[in-house]
Amino acid sequence: MTSRYYLWTVGCQMNKADSEKLAAGFDRMGLKATDRIERADIVVVNTCSVRQHAEDRAYSKLGRISELKKTKPQLKVAVMGCMVGLKTDELRKRFPQVDAFARPQQFEPIMELIEGPHEDLGGEFWPSTYAIPEGPTAFVPVVHGCNKFCTYCIVPYRRGREKSRPMDEIVREVAYLAANGVREVTLLGQTVEAYGHDLAEQPDLGDLMRELSAIERLERIRFLTSYPKDMTHRILEAIAGLPKVMECFSLPVQAGSDRVLESMRRGYTRAEYLAKIAEVRALMPAAGITTDVIVGYPGETEADFEESLSLLEEVRFDKVHVAAYSPRPGTIAYRKMEDDVPAATKAEWLHRVEEVEHRISEEINATYVGAVQSILVEGIRGEQPFGRTQTGKLVHLDAPARVGSLVDVRIEHAGPFSLRGTPVDALVLA
Ligand code: SF4
Repeated sequence: MTSRYYLWTVGCQMNKADSEKLAAGFDRMGLKATDRIERADIVVVNTCSVRQHAEDRAYSKLGRISELKKTKPQLKVAVMGCMVGLKTDELRKRFPQVDAFARPQQFEPIMELIEGPHEDLGGEFWPSTYAIPEGPTAFVPVVHGCNKFCTYCIVPYRRGREKSRPMDEIVREVAYLAANGVREVTLLGQTVEAYGHDLAEQPDLGDLMRELSAIERLERIRFLTSYPKDMTHRILEAIAGLPKVMECFSLPVQAGSDRVLESMRRGYTRAEYLAKIAEVRALMPAAGITTDVIVGYPGETEADFEESLSLLEEVRFDKVHVAAYSPRPGTIAYRKMEDDVPAATKAEWLHRVEEVEHRISEEINATYVGAVQSILVEGIRGEQPFGRTQTGKLVHLDAPARVGSLVDVRIEHAGPFSLRGTPVDALVLA
């Protein structure tokens, strides 16, 4: 009888949300979670293929599980996520001990490994099986897949085309989460503003946010990841006008040079990207904005790279996630472009972006010192509570506070990565 499951996850929030949903499905079927792999009857490895490092971690985990299966042959092993499909044959050859492979959100092959009667979990995406909240924040996928096909990206091949979840289904899920202690949801999509275009009524992300804002115990709504071309003025007005929606944007630019942007097939120019930032700031002057940048893309020159740096200086992002380009099998760039920027140059450019990003983050964070910020307390690390500002800044609290409470905090110290402060209202102290 399969009764204990061990779930290992690497990758983006979407992957984590998939794992949480799978765990909820296991729980509904009477299985119990274990964090000790040796005690599990079924092990699921949820993989990511966006970077080589994530794949290497999955290989090493599977190596360990294969050893375990030699001494415990009845152990069921499943691999799910973005490495399935493209890499299934290689994985099958290298790890013959794996019993099932499942693409992202395709839970059925895993369920088939479980003995005994199966509950009907409602078909694709398990619409009525909700992840069990573990704290005051939760991720809620609202649109799956991506239609954009940026040349370096594997996502559209692994997660398929954009597919929005019906609005009433999302509202029911968020209401359930709010009734079970969740105070903040983050709406997830690879390009989250694409939400709704494929639904009959064609609602947009703003319409969804409006519906969710009516859920009483929900305090905050966040959203990830933005794509400039899908971010309409109508959606921005909704974000600006709804008090529960946090003015916090993750808006990847990837490069500052038009030549590189075109080669990446990002679908916008530098000027168009900057115009979108200006539009956001005109409506929400205090908005927090983070971005992603790739350095060392095929054919990128020093002059192109300088344009990325100058864009970072011009926009002054709250945070920059920088990655050195690495060719991912299955992508357009892998098939058609030479990975011609030397590794040493990529490392140097990465370092230069980090220098600029640290300086600017520190300068922006310093402007928070002395201000009072509303913080949702997300958890306690060591003895110190932590949470985030409306703009997404991580804040450590120098006094006790209840997890799940909204606390006004006076910011007293700022570093490049986080802030520190003390709650101003003694009544909220535990
Ligand atoms: S927008 Fe581009 S980078 Fe983002 S998930 Fe889609 S294809 Fe990948």
